[in-house]
Amino acid sequence: MGHALGFARDSLIAFFCFFTHSILPFIFLTTGSSTTKKLLNRINFRTKLINLATTNEKHVAIVGFGMSGLIAFYNLVKNYPASSGKLVVRIFEKSPSLVKGTAYSTKNPNHLLNVLASRMGVVEEDVEHFFKWLCRKGYSYQKTDFVPRQIFGIYLEDILQSALKIAEEKNIFCEFRSKEISEITERGNYFWIDGDLHHSCILAVGPQLKDSKKSFWRNDLENYLSDEEIHILGCGLTAIDAVISLRDLKYSGKIFLHSRRGILSKPHKIFDSQEKVESPLSLEDSDLTLSQIFRKFVNACKKAPDWRLAFDAFRPHTQKFWMALNAEKKKRFLRHCFRLWNVHRHRCPESQFRVVEEMIKSGKLRIEKGRVTDKKLIDCTGFDYGFESELIKNLVKNNLVKFDEIHSGIIPQRENFYVTAGLNFGSLFEITAAPDISLHCKRIVDKIILSLHS
Ligand SMILES: Cc1cc2nc3c(=O)[nH]c(=O)nc-3n(C[C@H](O)[C@H](O)[C@H](O)COP(=O)(O)OP(=O)(O)OC[C@H]3O[C@@H](n4cnc5c(N)ncnc54)[C@H](O)[C@@H]3O)c2cc1C
Repeated sequence: MGHALGFARDSLIAFFCFFTHSILPFIFLTTGSSTTKKLLNRINFRTKLINLATTNEKHVAIVGFGMSGLIAFYNLVKNYPASSGKLVVRIFEKSPSLVKGTAYSTKNPNHLLNVLASRMGVVEEDVEHFFKWLCRKGYSYQKTDFVPRQIFGIYLEDILQSALKIAEEKNIFCEFRSKEISEITERGNYFWIDGDLHHSCILAVGPQLKDSKKSFWRNDLENYLSDEEIHILGCGLTAIDAVISLRDLKYSGKIFLHSRRGILSKPHKIFDSQEKVESPLSLEDSDLTLSQIFRKFVNACKKAPDWRLAFDAFRPHTQKFWMALNAEKKKRFLRHCFRLWNVHRHRCPESQFRVVEEMIKSGKLRIEKGRVTDKKLIDCTGFDYGFESELIKNLVKNNLVKFDEIHSGIIPQRENFYVTAGLNFGSLFEITAAPDISLHCKRIVDKIILSLHS
C-alpha cells in the first residue's frame, strides 16, 4: 500500500509539472521528466526485486574482467552446483580487451613473465596448469623458462573459452557489458549495479595506474624516439620493460633510469630443487622492531647459499607475517624498505637482465640515484595504491568498503561483497602475482557458492 501510494504521489507530481509546463512553458522545464525518470527507476527496481524473490535464480556480478575477474569467473561456473538454482553471471568491463589487463596486453614478445612457466597456472588448483597448456599447444618451453607475457594472455583467453563452454553445458547465463562502473549501491540484501540486482559482487578492477599521462603503459614510446635522451622514472620491472621496448624500437640515444636508491631489479637464478633454506623469519618475529626484523632478514640472506633462497623460503609466510605486523610497522616498512624489497622480491628473467647489463656497459644506459625534477619523465614506478577512482570513492561513501588501516587497500564491509588481488594490497601485501591471486579468487568463489547454496 505504501509503495502504491508513493507511486501515485510521484505520478501526480509529474502530471502537475507536465500540465503546468504545457500552459506556462517557462516553469518546470525538467522537473516532470526527472520525476518520471525516478518513477521508472523505482518500477524497474521493484520489478527486478520481485523477479529475484519469486524465482530461484542467483545473480553474481564481476566488476572488472582482467586476470582476477577471469579466475573468479572460471571457478564460479566450474564449481557452481545445479542444486543452488539457475545462475546468472553479469560481467562489467570498461576496456574492449577482456582478461589480459595491463600486464598481459603487451604486444612486445620480449616482455617476459617474471615467474617460471611451471608456477603460472591459475586454475584447477594446479600450478602447472599453464605449463601443461603450453605443452598441449605445441610450445617448446621448459618448466624453468620465462615465457612471453603475450602467450600468457592467449592462455587466459583460452581459459575464458573453457569457462564459457562449461557455462553453456551447465545452462549458466553469462552477460558481458562493456561498461565502466562508477557506482554500486546496496538495496535490501542485494547489490544494485547498472540497473540490475545481484546477490554477490566481486570487485576485480585491479590497482590503478599512477600519474596516467606520464605512465609507460599509456605512452607511445615512438613519440620519444627523436629525443637525444630519454629519462625513465623507476628501476624496477616496468623500467626494464621500457628499456627492452626502446632497444627493440632501435632507439639510438641515451637512456637514463632514475630512482631514489638507484638499484636495478635483481635477476632470477634457477636453483636445483634440493637447494632449500629455512624461512628467515617466523611469525613470532613480527613482535620485534622493524630494524631488528630487517637485520634478521638480511643476516639470513647473507648466510644462505644465495640470498634469493632466503626470499623464496619466506614467500609462503609473507602474507601471514605482514598481517601480524601493526599499522605503524607496515607504514614504516612501506616508507623505508618497500623499494628495496621490490627489487629483490620481484626479480627479472636473467636474459632480460643481461640485455640491460650490456646496454650499461656500452654506455647506452645509465642509472642515476636521487630525485629528479627537471626532466621529461616516463613513469615506470608501477601502480597507484591511492584508490582515487570515482568507483572506489563511491564504494567508500556507500559503506560497501573501507580503506585498510594504512590506506593502501580496501576492505569489504558487507557479506557477499568481495575484492580481489591488488585491491587487498594493504591487508595482504603479497597478493599481486598470479599464484597468490588464483588462490585468493578460488577462496572468494568458495564463499560465494556456500552463501548462494544456503
Ligand atoms: C606489467 C606487469 C607485469 C606483470 N607480470 C607478472 C608476471 O610475470 N607474473 C605474475 O605472476 N604476475 C605479474 N603481474 C601481476 C599480476 O599478474 C597482474 O597485476 C594481474 O593481471 C592483476 O589482475 P587484476 O584482474 O587484479 O587487475 P587488471 O589486470 O588490472 O584488471 C582489471 C580490469 O578491470 C577493468 N576495470 C577497471 N576499472 C573498471 C570499472 N570502473 N568498471 C569496469 N571495469 C573496470 C580494467 O579495464 C581491467 O581490465 C604483472 C603485472 C604487471 C602490471
